[in-house]
Amino acid sequence: VTEAVTEADRPLDLVADFPAIPAGWAYLDTAATAQKPRPVIEAITRAYGETYATVHRGVYQRSADMTLAYEAARRRVARFIGAGAESEIVFVRGATEAINLVAQCWAAVQLKPGDRILLSQLEHHSNIVPWQLAAEKTGAVIDVCPLTADGRIDLDAAERMLTPAHKLVALAHVSNVLGSVLDVRRAAALAHGVGAKLLVDGCQAVARLAVDVTALDCDFYAFSGHKLYGPTGIGVLWARAALLEAMPPYQGGGSMIDTVSFARTTYLPAPARFEAGTPHIVGALGLHAAIDYVEAIGLDRIHAHESALVAEARAALGRMNIVRLFGPADSAGIVSFAVEGVHPHDVGTILDEGRVAIRAGHHCAQPLMAALGVPATARASFGVYNGPADIAALVDGIERVARIFG
Ligand code: PMP
Repeated sequence: VTEAVTEADRPLDLVADFPAIPAGWAYLDTAATAQKPRPVIEAITRAYGETYATVHRGVYQRSADMTLAYEAARRRVARFIGAGAESEIVFVRGATEAINLVAQCWAAVQLKPGDRILLSQLEHHSNIVPWQLAAEKTGAVIDVCPLTADGRIDLDAAERMLTPAHKLVALAHVSNVLGSVLDVRRAAALAHGVGAKLLVDGCQAVARLAVDVTALDCDFYAFSGHKLYGPTGIGVLWARAALLEAMPPYQGGGSMIDTVSFARTTYLPAPARFEAGTPHIVGALGLHAAIDYVEAIGLDRIHAHESALVAEARAALGRMNIVRLFGPADSAGIVSFAVEGVHPHDVGTILDEGRVAIRAGHHCAQPLMAALGVPATARASFGVYNGPADIAALVDGIERVARIFG
């Protein structure tokens, strides 16, 4: 029986869309930042080269048009992540700023001495340090949820740890080191069960999984545009409308006020209240184009493509007895590994000589490195432009590492 091969079954072959990836270069560092497809580059070029003007202020047509385009990008983001309303989308510089915004305007305002925050052992520093700053200000205490043996956030442990003193749970949707995927719905149910809010760091998830914040039932969701094939300098904080409305401003300045006088200043409602100053206008337009690009491919297809690459890479590396693999087998697009007796930086340097770009280091996750008992890992991470040839180049490179180090 032969089944019709549908468009969705065909392997992705999109590297030609990415002008900064030359032939024969295996770019395996998408978890750090994704390369940009032509439609994103063209949207940015068109915005600066043809349609550019400021937003929200101009009385002339060009500025009114740019304002419409900027707000259309906000609507596009809202639809992309299943937000209830576009006013729940705050444009920020990136996930780091999104999390700091919540830490300063929600946690540092709401938390009292003795309140507790639950994080996990695998968080990126940007989902740790902002909470430490808020805890220092408020006297709140941070608890750390451990991981399962295969490198997932252990939600059974979280269930045992959570108490009514917990006001916030902040967890990564996908680990930037291990690729492990969080069961966000269960995390939300656990957090809400004790009256806590759930913030999800979606940096590694939005380009790899279909995300619907309403279905996930979280309270805050943060991500960066540049890991979603969009520009740097633009990111998103989504929060439930009621939470945003109760939060004081993040920064003061133009565009976030209703009226200003030395006697009394009043603020605009969200999201404008959190977007002081001239925003990254062109960044928002580039992000819009990036979302159009990934949705035209389909997140389910991207996920299947990257899962196949992960399976292939883990199988090939697993056959080399000098390689130790970290993380679960069903990781979303990310494989961390170590080569026995060789520092990950040396692995990365030798791979680079063979035109394979991986990341080596602590990946801004030093507490996770401590839990794994290593100073650093080598990490290969995949995007829509990768294919079997990249895995072959990675395997060749590691065989070379093995030869050089004997
Ligand atoms: N969280 C995770 C899981 C990440 O991978 C990253 C980026 N490495 C961040 C947060 C921070 O993102 P940005 O540096 O773009 O603000």
